[in-house]
Amino acid sequence: MALEAVTAVHYRTVSINTGLCKGCGICAALCPGVLSMAAGGKAVVANQSLCTGCRNCENHCPDFAIFTEVD
Ligand code: SF4
Ligand code: SF4
Repeated sequence: MALEAVTAVHYRTVSINTGLCKGCGICAALCPGVLSMAAGGKAVVANQSLCTGCRNCENHCPDFAIFTEVD
């Protein structure tokens, strides 16, 4: 049986409310492929195309600063 290439499927768009983000870094630690911390101390979406839409970041942000929307 031939192996098939596995690629990320983009289901949701992630947004960060920088007014609510306190810069704890939890989201970037949970999902370093998509999220990172900016020099100013806020989370940023660095690579939206790798987001699988799992919502782990949204569910663990203590400040409700991450929102995911179905594309
Ligand atoms: S988990 Fe929430 S508060 Fe913490 S860095 Fe990420 S967006 Fe900001
Ligand atoms: S929804 Fe999942 S894959 Fe997408 S940024 Fe959040 S933790 Fe990462």
